[in-house]
Amino acid sequence: MNADAVVVGAGLQGCGVALRLAQAGLSVLVLERSIPGAEASSAAGGILSPGVEAVEPGPFYDLCAQSLARYPAFVAEVERLAGLWVGFRAGGTLEVALDDRMAQVLAGRAEKLSGIGAEVHVLDGDGARRLEPALSEQTRGALYFAGEASLDPRLLGRALHLAASRVGARFLTGQVRGIAIESGRAVGVDHDAGRIGAKAVVLAAGAWSMQVAGHSLPPGAVRPVRGQIAALDTRPPLLTRVVFSEKGYVVPRPDGRILCGSTMEEAGFEKAVTAGGLLHVLELAVEIAPRLAAAPVVETWSNFRPATPDGQPVLGAGPVANLFYATGHYRNGVLLTPVTADAVSAAVLGRPPPLDLAPFSPARLGSGRRGA
Ligand SMILES: Cc1cc2nc3c(=O)[nH]c(=O)nc-3n(C[C@H](O)[C@H](O)[C@H](O)COP(=O)(O)OP(=O)(O)OC[C@H]3O[C@@H](n4cnc5c(N)ncnc54)[C@H](O)[C@@H]3O)c2cc1C
Repeated sequence: MNADAVVVGAGLQGCGVALRLAQAGLSVLVLERSIPGAEASSAAGGILSPGVEAVEPGPFYDLCAQSLARYPAFVAEVERLAGLWVGFRAGGTLEVALDDRMAQVLAGRAEKLSGIGAEVHVLDGDGARRLEPALSEQTRGALYFAGEASLDPRLLGRALHLAASRVGARFLTGQVRGIAIESGRAVGVDHDAGRIGAKAVVLAAGAWSMQVAGHSLPPGAVRPVRGQIAALDTRPPLLTRVVFSEKGYVVPRPDGRILCGSTMEEAGFEKAVTAGGLLHVLELAVEIAPRLAAAPVVETWSNFRPATPDGQPVLGAGPVANLFYATGHYRNGVLLTPVTADAVSAAVLGRPPPLDLAPFSPARLGSGRRGA
């Protein structure tokens, strides 16, 4: 079996890159050991927030902002190809301060972000409650990122898988054991089905990227950071926008479900929902909007963010010719899906990337090595 490009992993990153490569006319094979989208990509809150997540001006903020700007057209394209809705919801993000100290921290951040032209409004407690009346009386102030959005990552994962298939990408179930490297070049992968030859290999295996032999990343480049989420049901919907506090966030879905997240745990690959994890996410949600205390818990889950030492993704080419990376997206893989798809596919195709990928190169993490 051969392909122009093989993509290891069918999460949002693998499917997004596969979509773009297939659209460019390459024969693309996506290798997924489970169900496409089954791991981190379907566990995410679906928040699209450069303002809260990137915090400081710099290349990472620019990457996040570029991806957000691409989202409306990306969603329209994927929905058209797949014939499925992905739950994209504009309306902005709020980051609330529940004490005066945090209100000051937020005001300082707003100043920096305004300085680079970000759309951020500083609100007092009453202003925040006018936008979201269910917010706590303790709300001292908030930043309002009016241009930000959210979506349902489970729906996006399904639609992106379908969209990539519709433009010709093939999907094959099974485990990739390693990247086949000959004379310093990636020549394919070793898969449950045997050797698959390819002119380019894209590693998009999320938190499991370091388990793919031949990854050529430095030790510790990608590790799992567990996140737990509890979903509540509110009818009528209690909130309409994503709301962050210092401790976490709540993400409303249009049907009234509200996701409460998330923990940040170094727990290896132990996929558990724990008493302490639930306590944390439920407590922070009730602090943000006290009426959530009466809402039934309808679902809980956990999964693994692919974290890098600096919290930023690994994108594009690395030390081995024909081996490309779309991994390490940590807390922002949903937000970064459109720009990752465009930038990594450009690297594979030898076209100019939409932005400078040097800050996200594996080289920044130290010297690479071949092996497990
Ligand atoms: C609780 C939680 C909340 C989050 N909230 C947000 C959010 O609100 N906004 C946001 O932008 N991001 C969020 N994230 C982060 C986001 O989910 C991830 O960054 C993103 O999903 C990573 O996408 P991925 O495709 O790299 O990884 P994954 O979705 O994990 O996909 C990797 C795929 O590779 C497959 N795979 C691995 N190894 C192999 C192998 N050897 N052979 C074959 N297949 C293999 C896996 O089965 C998996 O399907 C959250 C994450 C968590 C856990």
